[in-house]
Amino acid sequence: QSVKLIAGNWKMHGLTASLAEAQALQDAIKAQSVTCRVALCPPATLLDRMRSTLVGGKVELGGQDCHDKPQGAFTGSVSAEMLTDAGATLVILGHSERRAGFGETDADVAAKVEAAIAAGLEPIVCVGETLEQREAGDAVAVVSAQVAGSLPDSLSERDFAVAYEPVWAIGTGLTPTLEQIAEVHAAIRSAIIARLGQGTAKTPILYGGSVKPDNAADILATAEVGGALVGGASLKADDFLKIIRAA
Ligand code: 13P
Repeated sequence: QSVKLIAGNWKMHGLTASLAEAQALQDAIKAQSVTCRVALCPPATLLDRMRSTLVGGKVELGGQDCHDKPQGAFTGSVSAEMLTDAGATLVILGHSERRAGFGETDADVAAKVEAAIAAGLEPIVCVGETLEQREAGDAVAVVSAQVAGSLPDSLSERDFAVAYEPVWAIGTGLTPTLEQIAEVHAAIRSAIIARLGQGTAKTPILYGGSVKPDNAADILATAEVGGALVGGASLKADDFLKIIRAA
């Protein structure tokens, strides 16, 4: 098994004061010789200051979204290169909160992935079914189609990750069974390889959705789970550290 990636998605939480949590996390990671990769994806306004705060540590920084164009008249948007410029090396793309709340399609996500790659960022591409889709027995078909549609050709030679985040598990305290996680991760692996070839046989597939200190070890030990994408439990250094230690 390759090194796991534990990424925190702060979503629209976190002000300057939250840098203290990032600092506490970094200090604890240094003290405990953590071997997995650790990333924090704060609101874009915090990236640059987080970079200054976390100098010399192993916490990688990521954005939560980017525009698909490098620059231009796109009021309110941030480009991939701007994220790189502010200190990010990764970017979450196609999160369900963007697909559902901002109408992003697979094609939109694929265009953003292209932009991220061009700016030298490592994309974390999110997929996941709704409760309705799961109950209809369509979970595997839905995520497989999202993988096929959201990963552009240019990824074949690049580092990236896919995150399986069932929409109904996000922020709800509900999680799929370990068997369900294993089933979907196996399907995602097949879909990535079908899309981009055998070179992606080790691309990390993260699980996200109500990952907490008390379920992280079991989830991270499940077949084809290459890490975790953590929302609420990444906001407090103590909780996030427990998840990191489970990796
Ligand atoms: P929660 O961990 O709060 O359920 O959020 C998961 C998520 O959406 C991470 O991107």
